[in-house]
Amino acid sequence: MSESTALLNIGSLVTNDPALGEGALGIITGGAIVIQGGRVSWVGRSADVDATTTVIDLEGRAVLPGFVDSHAHLLFAGDRADEFAARMNGEPYAAGGIRRTVTATRAATDEHLAANLRRLAAELRRSGVTTFETKSGYGLTTQDEARALEIARSVTDETTYLGAHVVPAEFEGRPDDYVALVAGDMLHSCAPNSKWIDVFCDEGAFDVDQSRTVLLAGIAAGLAPRLHANQLQHGGGVQLAVELDAASADHCTYLDDRDIEALAASNTVATLLPGAEFSTRSRYPDARRLLDAGATIALATDCNPGSSYTTSMSLMIALAVRDMHMTPDEAVWSATFGGSMALRRNDIGRLSPGSRADIVSLNAPSHIHLAYRPGVDLIDRVWQAPLTPKVAA
Ligand SMILES: [Zn+2]
Repeated sequence: MSESTALLNIGSLVTNDPALGEGALGIITGGAIVIQGGRVSWVGRSADVDATTTVIDLEGRAVLPGFVDSHAHLLFAGDRADEFAARMNGEPYAAGGIRRTVTATRAATDEHLAANLRRLAAELRRSGVTTFETKSGYGLTTQDEARALEIARSVTDETTYLGAHVVPAEFEGRPDDYVALVAGDMLHSCAPNSKWIDVFCDEGAFDVDQSRTVLLAGIAAGLAPRLHANQLQHGGGVQLAVELDAASADHCTYLDDRDIEALAASNTVATLLPGAEFSTRSRYPDARRLLDAGATIALATDCNPGSSYTTSMSLMIALAVRDMHMTPDEAVWSATFGGSMALRRNDIGRLSPGSRADIVSLNAPSHIHLAYRPGVDLIDRVWQAPLTPKVAA
Protein backbone atom coordinates (compact mmCIF):
# COMPACT_ATOMS: atom_id res chain seq x y z
CA MET A 1 0.00 0.00 0.00
CA SER A 2 1.32 3.44 -0.88
CA GLU A 3 1.43 6.14 1.71
CA SER A 4 -1.75 8.17 2.21
CA THR A 5 -2.14 11.89 2.74
CA ALA A 6 -5.11 13.67 4.29
CA LEU A 7 -6.14 17.23 3.48
CA LEU A 8 -7.97 18.40 6.59
CA ASN A 9 -10.00 21.42 7.73
CA ILE A 10 -11.24 22.39 4.28
CA GLY A 11 -13.59 25.37 4.70
CA SER A 12 -15.76 24.49 1.73
CA LEU A 13 -15.03 21.43 -0.37
CA VAL A 14 -16.44 21.22 -3.92
CA THR A 15 -16.62 17.53 -4.86
CA ASN A 16 -18.92 17.79 -7.92
CA ASP A 17 -20.53 14.62 -6.59
CA PRO A 18 -24.09 15.36 -5.38
CA ALA A 19 -24.05 12.08 -3.45
CA LEU A 20 -21.25 13.39 -1.22
CA GLY A 21 -22.55 16.83 -0.27
CA GLU A 22 -24.99 19.64 -0.92
CA GLY A 23 -26.32 20.72 -4.29
CA ALA A 24 -24.96 20.05 -7.77
CA LEU A 25 -21.43 20.80 -6.53
CA GLY A 26 -21.70 18.26 -3.72
CA ILE A 27 -20.30 20.77 -1.22
CA ILE A 28 -19.02 19.56 2.14
CA THR A 29 -18.46 22.20 4.82
CA GLY A 30 -15.56 21.30 7.09
CA GLY A 31 -14.47 18.62 4.64
CA ALA A 32 -11.44 16.42 4.18
CA ILE A 33 -9.91 14.33 1.41
CA VAL A 34 -7.61 11.34 1.71
CA ILE A 35 -5.27 10.69 -1.21
CA GLN A 36 -3.45 7.46 -1.93
CA GLY A 37 -1.40 6.50 -4.96
CA GLY A 38 -2.43 9.62 -6.88
CA ARG A 39 -6.14 8.89 -6.43
CA VAL A 40 -8.79 10.15 -4.05
CA SER A 41 -9.41 7.28 -1.63
CA TRP A 42 -11.86 8.93 0.77
CA VAL A 43 -13.96 12.11 0.99
CA GLY A 44 -15.99 13.28 3.98
CA ARG A 45 -15.99 15.47 7.03
CA SER A 46 -12.70 16.43 8.62
CA ALA A 47 -13.86 15.10 12.00
CA ASP A 48 -14.33 11.61 10.54
CA VAL A 49 -10.86 11.06 9.00
CA ASP A 50 -9.01 7.94 10.14
CA ALA A 51 -5.37 8.29 11.07
CA THR A 52 -3.14 8.80 8.03
CA THR A 53 0.60 9.01 7.57
CA THR A 54 0.67 12.62 6.37
CA VAL A 55 -1.71 15.42 7.29
CA ILE A 56 -1.99 18.80 5.58
CA ASP A 57 -4.08 21.39 7.42
CA LEU A 58 -5.94 23.63 4.94
CA GLU A 59 -6.94 26.02 7.75
CA GLY A 60 -10.40 26.74 6.39
CA ARG A 61 -9.44 27.26 2.75
CA ALA A 62 -11.77 26.21 -0.04
CA VAL A 63 -10.81 23.15 -2.12
CA LEU A 64 -12.11 22.15 -5.52
CA PRO A 65 -11.18 19.78 -8.35
CA GLY A 66 -8.36 21.07 -10.55
CA PHE A 67 -9.69 23.06 -13.49
CA VAL A 68 -10.06 21.21 -16.80
CA ASP A 69 -9.18 23.51 -19.69
CA SER A 70 -10.71 21.66 -22.61
CA HIS A 71 -9.84 24.18 -25.36
CA ALA A 72 -6.43 25.80 -25.94
CA HIS A 73 -4.01 26.48 -28.80
CA LEU A 74 -0.54 26.36 -27.24
CA LEU A 75 1.73 25.31 -30.14
CA PHE A 76 2.82 28.58 -31.67
CA ALA A 77 5.60 31.17 -31.88
CA GLY A 78 5.38 34.95 -31.64
CA ASP A 79 2.50 37.08 -30.42
CA ARG A 80 -0.01 39.52 -31.90
CA ALA A 81 -0.06 42.30 -29.34
CA ASP A 82 -0.13 44.92 -32.12
CA GLU A 83 -3.25 43.32 -33.61
CA PHE A 84 -4.90 43.35 -30.17
CA ALA A 85 -4.07 47.03 -29.72
CA ALA A 86 -5.49 47.85 -33.18
CA ARG A 87 -8.64 45.87 -32.43
CA MET A 88 -9.16 47.73 -29.18
CA ASN A 89 -8.95 50.87 -31.33
CA GLY A 90 -11.91 49.70 -33.38
CA GLU A 91 -10.69 47.24 -36.02
CA PRO A 92 -12.87 44.06 -36.23
CA TYR A 93 -11.59 40.54 -35.46
CA ALA A 94 -11.15 38.33 -38.54
CA ALA A 95 -9.93 34.72 -38.84
CA GLY A 96 -7.13 35.78 -41.26
CA GLY A 97 -4.82 36.97 -38.46
CA ILE A 98 -4.07 33.30 -37.80
CA ARG A 99 -1.80 33.34 -40.88
CA ARG A 100 0.64 35.67 -39.11
CA THR A 101 1.12 33.13 -36.35
CA VAL A 102 1.48 30.39 -38.98
CA THR A 103 4.42 32.23 -40.52
CA ALA A 104 6.13 32.67 -37.14
CA THR A 105 5.44 29.07 -36.10
CA ARG A 106 6.85 27.55 -39.29
CA ALA A 107 10.04 29.58 -38.80
CA ALA A 108 10.50 28.44 -35.18
CA THR A 109 12.72 25.58 -34.05
CA ASP A 110 11.31 22.52 -32.28
CA GLU A 111 13.07 23.67 -29.11
CA HIS A 112 11.45 27.11 -29.28
CA LEU A 113 7.96 25.64 -29.75
CA ALA A 114 8.49 23.18 -26.91
CA ALA A 115 9.79 25.92 -24.59
CA ASN A 116 6.80 28.15 -25.36
CA LEU A 117 4.45 25.24 -24.70
CA ARG A 118 6.14 24.48 -21.37
CA ARG A 119 5.89 28.14 -20.36
CA LEU A 120 2.15 28.21 -21.06
CA ALA A 121 1.62 24.82 -19.39
CA ALA A 122 3.33 26.22 -16.27
CA GLU A 123 1.03 29.26 -16.38
CA LEU A 124 -1.99 26.99 -16.61
CA ARG A 125 -0.79 24.96 -13.63
CA ARG A 126 -0.26 28.09 -11.56
CA SER A 127 -3.83 29.12 -12.40
CA GLY A 128 -5.15 25.80 -11.07
CA VAL A 129 -5.49 23.86 -14.31
CA THR A 130 -4.57 20.18 -13.83
CA THR A 131 -5.70 18.90 -17.25
CA PHE A 132 -5.51 20.84 -20.49
CA GLU A 133 -6.21 20.14 -24.11
CA THR A 134 -4.11 21.68 -26.85
CA LYS A 135 -4.49 21.86 -30.58
CA SER A 136 -2.12 22.08 -33.50
CA GLY A 137 -3.19 24.47 -36.25
CA TYR A 138 -0.38 26.99 -36.70
CA GLY A 139 1.80 24.78 -38.90
CA LEU A 140 -0.60 23.88 -41.71
CA THR A 141 1.91 21.71 -43.55
CA THR A 142 2.13 17.97 -42.98
CA GLN A 143 5.54 18.33 -41.35
CA ASP A 144 4.67 21.35 -39.20
CA GLU A 145 1.37 19.92 -37.95
CA ALA A 146 2.96 16.55 -37.17
CA ARG A 147 5.80 18.11 -35.17
CA ALA A 148 3.35 20.30 -33.22
CA LEU A 149 1.37 17.25 -32.14
CA GLU A 150 4.50 15.29 -31.29
CA ILE A 151 5.65 18.14 -29.02
CA ALA A 152 2.13 18.50 -27.53
CA ARG A 153 1.95 14.79 -26.75
CA SER A 154 4.98 15.17 -24.47
CA VAL A 155 2.94 17.32 -22.05
CA THR A 156 -0.71 16.22 -22.37
CA ASP A 157 -2.82 13.26 -23.50
CA GLU A 158 -5.49 15.66 -24.75
CA THR A 159 -4.06 16.52 -28.15
CA THR A 160 -6.13 17.76 -31.07
CA TYR A 161 -5.24 17.79 -34.74
CA LEU A 162 -6.45 21.12 -36.17
CA GLY A 163 -4.94 21.12 -39.66
CA ALA A 164 -8.24 22.73 -40.72
CA HIS A 165 -7.66 25.96 -38.79
CA VAL A 166 -7.48 28.28 -41.83
CA VAL A 167 -6.51 27.77 -45.48
CA PRO A 168 -2.80 28.70 -45.62
CA ALA A 169 -1.64 31.39 -48.06
CA GLU A 170 -0.07 28.92 -50.49
CA PHE A 171 -3.50 27.32 -51.01
CA GLU A 172 -5.27 30.66 -51.61
CA GLY A 173 -8.11 30.08 -54.08
CA ARG A 174 -7.75 26.28 -53.80
CA PRO A 175 -9.45 25.47 -50.51
CA ASP A 176 -10.65 22.04 -51.64
CA ASP A 177 -7.06 21.01 -52.44
CA TYR A 178 -6.11 22.00 -48.89
CA VAL A 179 -9.06 20.07 -47.43
CA ALA A 180 -7.89 17.00 -49.36
CA LEU A 181 -4.42 17.35 -47.81
CA VAL A 182 -5.84 17.83 -44.29
CA ALA A 183 -8.07 14.77 -44.68
CA GLY A 184 -5.32 12.74 -46.37
CA ASP A 185 -1.53 12.77 -45.92
CA MET A 186 -1.51 15.36 -43.14
CA LEU A 187 -4.07 13.41 -41.11
CA HIS A 188 -2.11 10.19 -41.40
CA SER A 189 1.08 11.88 -40.19
CA CYS A 190 -0.73 13.53 -37.27
CA ALA A 191 -3.07 10.74 -36.12
CA PRO A 192 -0.47 8.80 -34.08
CA ASN A 193 -0.07 11.73 -31.65
CA SER A 194 -3.69 12.94 -31.68
CA LYS A 195 -6.74 11.96 -29.63
CA TRP A 196 -9.07 14.48 -31.29
CA ILE A 197 -9.75 16.10 -34.64
CA ASP A 198 -11.16 19.63 -34.93
CA VAL A 199 -12.09 22.13 -37.66
CA PHE A 200 -12.61 25.90 -37.52
CA CYS A 201 -16.06 25.85 -39.13
CA ASP A 202 -16.84 29.53 -39.66
CA GLU A 203 -16.73 32.55 -41.95
CA GLY A 204 -13.20 32.96 -43.34
CA ALA A 205 -12.24 29.38 -42.44
CA PHE A 206 -14.10 26.17 -43.52
CA ASP A 207 -17.72 25.60 -44.50
CA VAL A 208 -19.95 22.79 -43.23
CA ASP A 209 -19.26 20.40 -46.13
CA GLN A 210 -15.50 20.86 -45.87
CA SER A 211 -15.71 20.42 -42.11
CA ARG A 212 -17.71 17.22 -42.46
CA THR A 213 -15.14 15.83 -44.93
CA VAL A 214 -12.28 16.48 -42.50
CA LEU A 215 -14.07 15.19 -39.40
CA LEU A 216 -15.25 11.99 -41.11
CA ALA A 217 -11.71 11.30 -42.32
CA GLY A 218 -10.47 11.80 -38.77
CA ILE A 219 -13.09 9.48 -37.33
CA ALA A 220 -12.12 6.84 -39.89
CA ALA A 221 -8.49 7.23 -38.72
CA GLY A 222 -9.49 6.60 -35.10
CA LEU A 223 -9.73 10.20 -33.84
CA ALA A 224 -12.73 11.62 -32.00
CA PRO A 225 -14.41 14.81 -33.28
CA ARG A 226 -14.83 18.25 -31.71
CA LEU A 227 -15.60 21.45 -33.60
CA HIS A 228 -15.13 25.23 -33.54
CA ALA A 229 -18.69 26.24 -34.35
CA ASN A 230 -20.83 29.37 -34.62
CA GLN A 231 -18.24 31.82 -33.26
CA LEU A 232 -18.36 34.62 -35.82
CA GLN A 233 -21.82 34.15 -37.32
CA HIS A 234 -24.74 31.73 -37.38
CA GLY A 235 -24.02 28.63 -39.48
CA GLY A 236 -24.39 24.86 -39.56
CA GLY A 237 -21.44 24.03 -37.30
CA VAL A 238 -23.38 23.15 -34.18
CA GLN A 239 -25.75 20.91 -36.14
CA LEU A 240 -22.74 19.15 -37.70
CA ALA A 241 -21.15 18.64 -34.28
CA VAL A 242 -24.33 17.02 -32.97
CA GLU A 243 -24.78 14.96 -36.15
CA LEU A 244 -21.29 13.46 -35.66
CA ASP A 245 -21.67 13.06 -31.87
CA ALA A 246 -18.74 15.43 -31.32
CA ALA A 247 -17.61 15.62 -27.70
CA SER A 248 -17.91 19.39 -27.88
CA ALA A 249 -19.11 22.29 -30.03
CA ASP A 250 -16.85 25.19 -29.11
CA HIS A 251 -17.71 28.93 -28.98
CA CYS A 252 -21.50 28.65 -29.68
CA THR A 253 -21.87 32.42 -29.79
CA TYR A 254 -24.51 32.60 -32.55
CA LEU A 255 -27.17 29.95 -31.90
CA ASP A 256 -30.82 29.67 -32.93
CA ASP A 257 -33.53 27.68 -31.14
CA ARG A 258 -32.84 24.57 -33.25
CA ASP A 259 -29.16 24.63 -32.27
CA ILE A 260 -30.00 24.94 -28.59
CA GLU A 261 -32.54 22.11 -28.77
CA ALA A 262 -30.04 19.94 -30.64
CA LEU A 263 -27.31 20.53 -28.06
CA ALA A 264 -29.70 19.89 -25.15
CA ALA A 265 -30.82 16.57 -26.68
CA SER A 266 -27.26 15.39 -27.44
CA ASN A 267 -24.06 14.27 -25.72
CA THR A 268 -22.25 17.23 -27.28
CA VAL A 269 -21.06 19.76 -24.70
CA ALA A 270 -21.30 23.48 -25.50
CA THR A 271 -17.83 24.79 -24.66
CA LEU A 272 -17.99 28.52 -24.08
CA LEU A 273 -14.83 30.60 -24.38
CA PRO A 274 -15.54 34.03 -22.91
CA GLY A 275 -11.88 35.03 -23.14
CA ALA A 276 -12.38 35.26 -26.91
CA GLU A 277 -15.36 37.59 -26.62
CA PHE A 278 -13.58 39.62 -23.94
CA SER A 279 -10.41 40.00 -26.04
CA THR A 280 -12.23 40.75 -29.29
CA ARG A 281 -14.89 42.92 -27.65
CA SER A 282 -17.61 40.74 -29.15
CA ARG A 283 -20.99 39.65 -27.86
CA TYR A 284 -20.97 36.78 -25.37
CA PRO A 285 -22.78 33.49 -25.98
CA ASP A 286 -26.16 33.12 -24.31
CA ALA A 287 -25.20 30.70 -21.54
CA ARG A 288 -28.51 31.20 -19.73
CA ARG A 289 -30.57 29.96 -22.68
CA LEU A 290 -28.32 26.91 -23.05
CA LEU A 291 -28.53 26.04 -19.37
CA ASP A 292 -32.26 26.64 -19.13
CA ALA A 293 -32.77 24.33 -22.15
CA GLY A 294 -30.76 21.60 -20.41
CA ALA A 295 -27.52 21.76 -22.43
CA THR A 296 -24.18 21.00 -20.76
CA ILE A 297 -21.64 23.83 -20.65
CA ALA A 298 -17.86 23.69 -20.31
CA LEU A 299 -15.78 26.81 -19.79
CA ALA A 300 -12.27 26.95 -21.27
CA THR A 301 -9.58 29.57 -21.92
CA ASP A 302 -9.16 29.23 -25.71
CA CYS A 303 -5.60 30.33 -24.95
CA ASN A 304 -4.12 31.48 -28.27
CA PRO A 305 -2.00 34.44 -29.41
CA GLY A 306 -4.73 36.04 -31.52
CA SER A 307 -8.11 36.18 -29.86
CA SER A 308 -7.67 35.07 -26.21
CA TYR A 309 -4.12 35.16 -24.86
CA THR A 310 -4.94 34.12 -21.31
CA THR A 311 -4.38 31.02 -19.19
CA SER A 312 -6.69 32.12 -16.37
CA MET A 313 -9.65 29.86 -15.66
CA SER A 314 -10.51 32.17 -12.76
CA LEU A 315 -11.03 34.97 -15.30
CA MET A 316 -13.29 32.68 -17.37
CA ILE A 317 -15.38 32.01 -14.26
CA ALA A 318 -15.63 35.71 -13.44
CA LEU A 319 -16.68 36.56 -17.02
CA ALA A 320 -19.20 33.72 -17.10
CA VAL A 321 -20.80 35.00 -13.93
CA ARG A 322 -20.61 38.76 -14.60
CA ASP A 323 -21.29 38.84 -18.34
CA MET A 324 -22.95 35.50 -19.20
CA HIS A 325 -25.29 35.37 -16.20
CA MET A 326 -24.14 31.98 -14.96
CA THR A 327 -24.31 31.48 -11.20
CA PRO A 328 -20.95 31.05 -9.42
CA ASP A 329 -21.86 27.38 -8.85
CA GLU A 330 -22.65 26.83 -12.53
CA ALA A 331 -19.44 28.53 -13.63
CA VAL A 332 -17.22 26.52 -11.27
CA TRP A 333 -18.98 23.27 -12.30
CA SER A 334 -18.47 24.12 -15.99
CA ALA A 335 -14.76 24.89 -15.45
CA THR A 336 -14.22 21.50 -13.78
CA PHE A 337 -16.84 18.78 -14.39
CA GLY A 338 -18.06 20.42 -17.62
CA GLY A 339 -14.50 20.37 -18.96
CA SER A 340 -14.14 16.69 -18.12
CA MET A 341 -17.34 15.96 -20.08
CA ALA A 342 -16.01 17.97 -23.04
CA LEU A 343 -12.99 15.63 -23.01
CA ARG A 344 -15.16 12.55 -22.33
CA ARG A 345 -13.19 11.77 -19.18
CA ASN A 346 -14.67 10.36 -15.98
CA ASP A 347 -11.50 10.36 -13.87
CA ILE A 348 -11.13 14.16 -13.54
CA GLY A 349 -13.33 17.18 -12.80
CA ARG A 350 -14.61 15.72 -9.52
CA LEU A 351 -13.27 14.70 -6.13
CA SER A 352 -14.89 11.41 -5.27
CA PRO A 353 -13.30 8.07 -4.35
CA GLY A 354 -11.38 6.72 -7.36
CA SER A 355 -10.96 10.01 -9.21
CA ARG A 356 -7.53 11.42 -9.92
CA ALA A 357 -6.15 13.47 -7.04
CA ASP A 358 -6.07 16.67 -9.10
CA ILE A 359 -6.88 19.24 -6.46
CA VAL A 360 -6.72 23.00 -5.98
CA SER A 361 -6.89 24.93 -2.73
CA LEU A 362 -7.80 28.61 -2.66
CA ASN A 363 -6.72 31.47 -0.45
CA ALA A 364 -10.43 32.01 0.15
CA PRO A 365 -13.14 30.29 2.17
CA SER A 366 -15.33 29.29 -0.80
CA HIS A 367 -15.35 28.80 -4.58
CA ILE A 368 -17.66 31.85 -4.92
CA HIS A 369 -14.61 34.05 -4.35
CA LEU A 370 -13.31 33.03 -7.81
CA ALA A 371 -15.97 35.31 -9.34
CA TYR A 372 -16.39 37.65 -6.38
CA ARG A 373 -12.71 38.68 -6.41
CA PRO A 374 -11.98 39.12 -10.14
CA GLY A 375 -8.37 39.52 -11.20
CA VAL A 376 -7.01 38.33 -7.85
CA ASP A 377 -4.80 35.23 -7.85
CA LEU A 378 -6.51 33.05 -5.24
CA ILE A 379 -4.73 29.79 -6.08
CA ASP A 380 -3.03 28.48 -2.95
CA ARG A 381 -1.74 25.03 -3.89
CA VAL A 382 -2.18 22.64 -6.81
CA TRP A 383 -1.88 18.87 -6.48
CA GLN A 384 -1.64 16.78 -9.62
CA ALA A 385 -1.63 13.03 -9.63
CA PRO A 386 0.84 11.48 -8.88
CA LEU A 387 0.76 13.28 -5.58
CA THR A 388 3.24 16.14 -5.65
CA PRO A 389 2.40 19.72 -4.82
CA LYS A 390 3.40 21.48 -8.09
CA VAL A 391 2.95 24.98 -6.76
CA ALA A 392 4.05 26.05 -3.33
CA ALA A 393 1.93 28.47 -1.35
ZN1 LIG B 1 -10.09 27.73 -30.53
